[in-house]
Amino acid sequence: MAVDGNSVVRVGVCGASGRMGKEVVKTILAEDGLELVMAVDTHNAGMDAALNAGLAEPCQVSVEADLQTALQNKRPDVVVDFTAPSAVLGNALAVIRSGARSVIGTTGLSAEGMSQLEQAVAQHKTAALIAPNFAIGAVLLMRFAQEASRYFDHAEIIELHHNQKLDAPSGTALRTAELMAEAQPKFGKTNVASDKEKEILAGSRGGTTESNLHIHSVRLPGLVAHQEVIFGGLGQTLTIRHDSLDRTSFMPGVALAVRNIIHAQGLIYGLENLM
Ligand code: NAP
Repeated sequence: MAVDGNSVVRVGVCGASGRMGKEVVKTILAEDGLELVMAVDTHNAGMDAALNAGLAEPCQVSVEADLQTALQNKRPDVVVDFTAPSAVLGNALAVIRSGARSVIGTTGLSAEGMSQLEQAVAQHKTAALIAPNFAIGAVLLMRFAQEASRYFDHAEIIELHHNQKLDAPSGTALRTAELMAEAQPKFGKTNVASDKEKEILAGSRGGTTESNLHIHSVRLPGLVAHQEVIFGGLGQTLTIRHDSLDRTSFMPGVALAVRNIIHAQGLIYGLENLM
């Protein structure tokens, strides 16, 4: 395994025919020190992974349908997963049991799933990263929102995504709310009227976290991944916003994660912990 920092990192991509997976395939093929050795997807099995991703030149790595077989034959050091909420846990457990490290971009993993991953990672003495958002700007948005939460106790989160996203709210919104709650355990506590509020249309106020943060999910064609955190105070508002305008926005973070997870141990939550 490439743990000495000099050898090439052997990388697999799970979900290689998806919107994100194709970008990851192109990124791994373009990055020095990273080698694409495995591509898995339920779609386009048998096709060259580079051609499948829209590149002009083949890379001699075919898309495979079965992850277990691919892991046994290709022995990647790191596997990047951008599949679906229903598939991610099974995939990540298979990767970890093979001894490889897992970089998980797929959102929608349950708390129970995370705890299973934590146990598997410890048992197999390897590492996994769950990153709700690989865009460096989004990681900074989360950090700034946590900082602002020390000074504002009223805030709401609006996340906006393309209309093919399966989970709501987004993993980024949930992670943002979690970080904000570390700085401000109860939002909206001075709003005396909140218990008298009546929703005329169910869901109008969004989902509410334990710390009383409201999260609103917008799904529209044309969007990629966007998030606003709006803070309200006496006579003022503060809006922090991040926009991923293109899926390439996630790729520097994915490459960083693949390089750095080689030296990590255990389950890591959030790209900021590998930066
Ligand atoms: P997508 O276009 O639907 O691609 C997912 C691909 O994975 C599809 O081809 C899908 O095939 C395939 N797949 C599903 N189950 C599989 C399995 N068990 N083994 C192998 N391949 C499998 O989705 P996407 O837009 O790329 O997004 C993927 C995930 O990444 C979503 O959860 C999304 O929220 C997340 N995401 C995360 C970030 C981040 O920064 N962390 C950024 C963007 C997106 P089928 O069509 O047969 O299911």
